[in-house]
Amino acid sequence: MSGKDSLKTYREKRDFKKTAEPSGKRKSGSKKPIFVIQKHDASRLHYDFRLEVDGVLVSWAVPKGPSTDPRDKRLAVPTEDHPLEYGDFEGIIPEGEYGAGTVIVWDTGLYRNLRAEKEDDGASMQKALEEGKLEIWLEGKKISGGYALIRTRKKGDERWLLIKMKDERANARRNPVSTEPESVISGRTLEDLL
Ligand code: MN
Repeated sequence: MSGKDSLKTYREKRDFKKTAEPSGKRKSGSKKPIFVIQKHDASRLHYDFRLEVDGVLVSWAVPKGPSTDPRDKRLAVPTEDHPLEYGDFEGIIPEGEYGAGTVIVWDTGLYRNLRAEKEDDGASMQKALEEGKLEIWLEGKKISGGYALIRTRKKGDERWLLIKMKDERANARRNPVSTEPESVISGRTLEDLL
C-alpha cells in the first residue's frame, strides 16, 4: 500500500493500449483528499473503495458495498493502489484485460482523517494504514459520516472490515447500494454502459 512507486502493480496488470483506464502519470494536487466508491461488474460485482493518501488511491474491494447501518461489518479486501485520476473513470474494461467489465463512479467526495483530529499524536493516514485502523469522515452524495476500516488478518492474507460508525449520519433504514444504483457523475447505471 501507498509508498514509493506504489503504482507498479497497477501498471503491470494492465495494457494501456487496450484499456481506457488511466496509466497514472499525472501528479496529485494539494487539495483536500478525496474518496471514491466505484461499482465494478467484473467476474463478480463489487464496490471498489478508494482513499487518496499521498498522491495515490489506496484501494479495497468491498463485495457488498458500504452500509449505513453500524451493525453491518462489510468485508474489504485490499487491492493495488490506483492513480488519482482513476477516481473519475467510468466505462468498459475490455474482455481479456484485468478487471474486465463495467465501472461507474457510485459515490465520491472529500474525506477527513478522524484519528488525526481526535488523538494527541494525530495518526497520519500512512500510520493508520500500517496499524490497520482507519477512522474517516466521508462527505459523499450517498455515503457520509464516520466510517472505520479495521484490519482483521495480517499481511500476506489481509482482510479488513468497513463499518459505519455510530453518529448522526448512521441510518439502519437506508440501503443506498440497492436503492441508488446510478453514477453520481453521469447518472448512468452499469447496464446503461452496455
Ligand atoms: Mn474492481
